[in-house]
Order: sequence, then structure tokens, then C-alpha cells
Amino acid sequence: MLDPYEIRKDFPIFTRKVHGKTLIYFDNAATSQRPVQVIEAVDSFYRNQNANIGRSVHELALTATEAYEASRKIVAAFIGARPDELVFTKNATESINLAAYSLLVSGHLRSGDEVLVTRMEHHSNLLPWVRVARVAGARLRIIEVREDGTLDLDDFYRKLSDKTRVLAVTHVSNVTGVINPVKELCEEAHKHGALCLVDGAQSVPHMHVDVGRIKPDFLAFSGHKMLGPMGIGGLYVTRELAEKLEPPFPGGGAISLVGCGVDECSAEWLQAPHKFEAGTPNVAGAVGLSAAVEYLEKLGMEDVEEHERRLTKKALDILQGLGVKVYGPLDPRERTGVVSFNVGKLTPHEVAQLLDSEGIAVRSGHHCALPLIKRLGAPLGTVRASFYIYNTLEELDVFEEALRKILVVAVG
Ligand code: PMP
Repeated sequence: MLDPYEIRKDFPIFTRKVHGKTLIYFDNAATSQRPVQVIEAVDSFYRNQNANIGRSVHELALTATEAYEASRKIVAAFIGARPDELVFTKNATESINLAAYSLLVSGHLRSGDEVLVTRMEHHSNLLPWVRVARVAGARLRIIEVREDGTLDLDDFYRKLSDKTRVLAVTHVSNVTGVINPVKELCEEAHKHGALCLVDGAQSVPHMHVDVGRIKPDFLAFSGHKMLGPMGIGGLYVTRELAEKLEPPFPGGGAISLVGCGVDECSAEWLQAPHKFEAGTPNVAGAVGLSAAVEYLEKLGMEDVEEHERRLTKKALDILQGLGVKVYGPLDPRERTGVVSFNVGKLTPHEVAQLLDSEGIAVRSGHHCALPLIKRLGAPLGTVRASFYIYNTLEELDVFEEALRKILVVAVG
């Protein structure tokens, strides 16, 4: 079992006050906080190892290259992947764009093909597919979401066909915390010859995600939501697929050879993952992310999940007890620690501001998932509380008290 009080000692941010109150950070779906182990890993890289990687033969460059590749190994193992199957990116958004544009420039999408997404996608796993489908002349199809925020599997089976070339689906909704059956979805997509991209931005930080079990073709995630630095993320691509794909963003560091004739040039790509990482990468970010992964592994992802389930159950009990409108399924086993709600006639921003005045940080608005927000019947969005390893049941007591005060405003 996790001890959040011990964990908090590693997070310098929890020593600060907000509006004179102890900070209660319930905005983890937006970004997590960082432990001192991650801050020091980044600091130490710049102090002791900083050089550009992969190009120079001097000692420092070799050390930096080794640190980068060692980080790749650690982060890849965390999701059950081989190091050469993990591309470092800036964030989940860049990972998804990289996958989408790779498929586009590699001729995987053509006129008459279909790309299947769901109505619960974050804009980052929707807009890249809208764009590449349009450019390729392919048709975008949207799997519907049920009233309770869960995926309509009947609609999935109705819309999946031999025309489907790509299925792009989130593992966990960043609005409702709903967990999608991505293993089953990828399996079904594969039966029709389609590729499957799983958006793991809200799952990889919170549960044991194993690509060997789920078998996606792509898995995207962000480092900053899992204790790592901002500006580093990952895209898992199967070895087999990575070999076939053209890199959409060519440049230095991605090629083994470039030749130019009179008015024409051609390039030979390095092996994956390097062919997808043109330009100078975020080496310190990768080093910081591997420190974050080591921190999570030490805690154990099963215990992380269990701790968050306990917090989620209590949060749902509190909200229901207060008669507050909660979105998504009410069984904590069907969701992660992302809880969306609305309080009476107050707008989500008003509630978030009132909570902020009590030192409680939540997010309010559409959470970059407007099609889902509309489907849930919450035109102004929701208030979202999202939990992580350092949150405590006691913090939820403070949250309940604050909500009681807000309800007086809402009703009075
Ligand atoms: N997908 C989901 C489900 C998310 O929650 C987010 C971040 N809110 C993203 C993608 C995009 O992540 P990033 O902003 O780190 O690129």
C-alpha cells in the first residue's frame, strides 16, 4: 500500500502555500508534480553530462549519448517495449501527429479508406486524424459514446469494417476517467487489417500498461503527466511497422546517407527509432523521464492504481452524498482517478475559482474534448478533480468541506 505522506516528502512543491492555505493539488490529469529525484536528474545532466548526442566522438558526447539511450531502455521497459520501439517526442500530441503523418507520407491512407476514432478523444487524438484523413481523401468515422460516458461497443462493431485502416482510441478518458477495453478494440481492428493507435496519456502514468498484452501498433504518452519533465513524451511503434514507415519530419540525425545530384537529393534513413528523431532531442527530458519511471516502478504500478482507486471511491461518495452532478460511471473499478462534476447552476470556472480560494487546484472547462463535453450535456464543461500518488484521503475531507461552502453559494 502506498504511503502518500512519505511520498509527499519527495515533492518540494508541497511546502508552498496557495492563498495562505496548504496546496491541495487535484489537477494531475493536466500535469503531475515532480519529485526531487527527477529535478535532480535533470539538474545533474546539465551540470555533468551536457553535450549533443550521437554526433561527436568526444568523451562528454559519448556520456550524453549513453545517458539518452539508457533512458530509452528504462522508459521502453516500463511499457513492455524494446528500446528500438520507443521514439522520444515532445509530448503525446506530437507522438500522435508523428504516427498520423508517418502513415500519411508512407501511403497507408488513401481515398476510400476509413479512419475510426471515438467521440471521447482528446483533441490531440482527434485533430491529427481529421487532418490526415482529409489530405488522403479518407473518411473519418466516429464511434459514439453512451449516456454514461462509456464507449458504445455496438457502434464500434457497426463501424469497423475492411475499409478501416486506422483505429485511434484513448485508453482512458481525460474527462470521465473511463477505461476503454483497448486490448479487445485493437484485436478487432487487426482482424480487419487496420492499425491501432492507443492514446495512453491518461493510462501510462496511472496503471501498468503493457504493449505485449494490449498489442497496439502505436502507443502515445507524455512524460509530464507521470512525474517527468515537460517537453518529453514517447511513441511506441512496433518494430515491424517502424521499419516500413517513412519519417514525416526528416532532418539531421535521422539519416545514414544523403546524396544530391544537380537538382535532386535523396536520403537513406537510420534504423528506427532514430529516423523519427531528427534534430537535437530533449536529452535532459529523457533522463528526467527515466528517473520518473524508476520512481513509479519503485512504488509499483499496482499499488499506484490501488491508491488512486481508493481516492476515487471516496471522491465519488462525497460528490454523490452532496447531490452534485457527476459524469461517467460511478463504479470506481470502471474508471481511473479523473472525476468530472458540476455544482448546481454555478459555472465550472466559478466552482474552480472558489476551490482555488481554499487552496484546491482543479481544472474547469472543456478539457480539450469538446465533442465529449457536448455529448455529456455539459455545454460549459465540467469541474475536474484528478488524483495521483501524493494525494490523501484527508485532502478529500478538505475538498468536501469546501464543496459544502460552495453549495451554499450555489443554492443561496
Ligand atoms: N490525450 C489525452 C487523453 C490527454 O489527456 C492529453 C493531455 N491532457 C493529451 C492527449 C495531450 O497531452 P499533451 O498535452 O501532453 O501533448
